[in-house]
Amino acid sequence: MSELKNIVIIGASNAGHSLAKKLVQEGKIPETHRILLIDPAQFAYWPIASLRASVVPGWEKKVYRELKQEGIFAEGTKHVLVQAKVEEVGDGRFVLDREFEGTREVTFDSLVFATGASQPFPMRPKQEWSIAEVEDRLRQTQEDIAAAERVVIIGGGPTGIEMAGEIITAHPSKKITLVHRQPRLLDDRFPVKLSNQLEALLKKAGVELVLGDEHIQEPDLVTGKQDVTRTIRTKNGKELEGEFVSRSRMCLRADRAAMTADYVFIAIGNQPNTQLLANADPAALSKDKTINVNEFLQVQSSLFPRGNVFAAGDCANSPGWRSYISVEADIATLARNIPAQLSGSAMKKHAPGPRAMVVPVGPAAGAGFAAMGPLGDTALPQFAVPIVKGKDLFVSKFFARFLT
Ligand SMILES: Cc1cc2nc3c(=O)[nH]c(=O)nc-3n(C[C@H](O)[C@H](O)[C@H](O)COP(=O)(O)OP(=O)(O)OC[C@H]3O[C@@H](n4cnc5c(N)ncnc54)[C@H](O)[C@@H]3O)c2cc1C
Repeated sequence: MSELKNIVIIGASNAGHSLAKKLVQEGKIPETHRILLIDPAQFAYWPIASLRASVVPGWEKKVYRELKQEGIFAEGTKHVLVQAKVEEVGDGRFVLDREFEGTREVTFDSLVFATGASQPFPMRPKQEWSIAEVEDRLRQTQEDIAAAERVVIIGGGPTGIEMAGEIITAHPSKKITLVHRQPRLLDDRFPVKLSNQLEALLKKAGVELVLGDEHIQEPDLVTGKQDVTRTIRTKNGKELEGEFVSRSRMCLRADRAAMTADYVFIAIGNQPNTQLLANADPAALSKDKTINVNEFLQVQSSLFPRGNVFAAGDCANSPGWRSYISVEADIATLARNIPAQLSGSAMKKHAPGPRAMVVPVGPAAGAGFAAMGPLGDTALPQFAVPIVKGKDLFVSKFFARFLT
């Protein structure tokens, strides 16, 4: 067993890997310490390119990188990528699902939850899948979507809009309907102008929008190819059906409110991966199941009285949207605060990432905004969207994190 003390980062996909890299680059890790970057997955996954990877052949290779020691840390390093799942965490100790250096129970001096979130594939794959399986499933999704005649997308947030954009760009003659609960695309957290620009782009491309209505979730309705062309009813349709018993005219209207699909894509929400902490201290989670952190990003739990446990990325309730922009802000804070906490010096307060959102509609169109100080929320020129994000989906940034 090593005599070095452990700075443990649970989760290596995006927040975890970015933090490990920054800590090493900044050279503030004491001689006495090493990083253990822990993840059971064979790969790091880049959700930002996952929608195009589900539609455009070739992109299935751009959405992941293999997780391997030499790709993460330079040769001769003391830091270790540990391919294992953390099953239990307590004060100064954690338990792995397999042995590491001859034991499953390992101690730590500092620990970071960077366990992210789960979403249906293709947004996030299962941890236990192999790389070949991820690629195969993406290729299958590309084929299923290409073969579908009618696609229904449920949810008009950034993900649903982007998916509609990817499909209609690759398959301009496909019938696509997007259903969204809100009266406009996105929601009240976003500028109205952004919603309007995206609505205009989707309509121009031929996507049918059903706004201010909601689908009825049947138990077997999941993302993917449907065995038979199925009918999806909206809440408005259901109310009308309820009146069918006595009023046959309403039945006709109910049928009009229903949609048929042979491919369904559900783009609603995500689930933070915080069960690990919930098992030990449910009070450490906020209402939306993210991990409560304070202004220094320390986890708020009586389990960790020494203040040496932090959280970052999609699993944390640090201020801002759950996005890679917030991940970068979290990392900047933790790269200062972890060494400070270890040395007993003052930590810095967390500064949230910028308020901004860019939503591509395929590689060559889209809309976005950024908060510009006293000017407030300001629309990006639409010609800039492909340059900023649409063309590359930040894949080059993702790949650049890896050494091999
Ligand atoms: C379609 C889509 C488009 C997006 N577009 C944008 C965008 O344009 N801009 C933007 O800023 N953000 C965007 N995002 C959000 C961005 O992708 C996420 O915020 C970011 O990937 C979160 O990174 P993370 O490391 O916190 O989580 P994840 O990437 O989910 O990584 C978590 C890791 O933790 C591991 N893990 C979980 N539990 C354990 C355990 N018990 N033990 C060990 N390891 C564990 C998992 O295996 C996983 O590898 C988008 C997301 C989606 C889905």
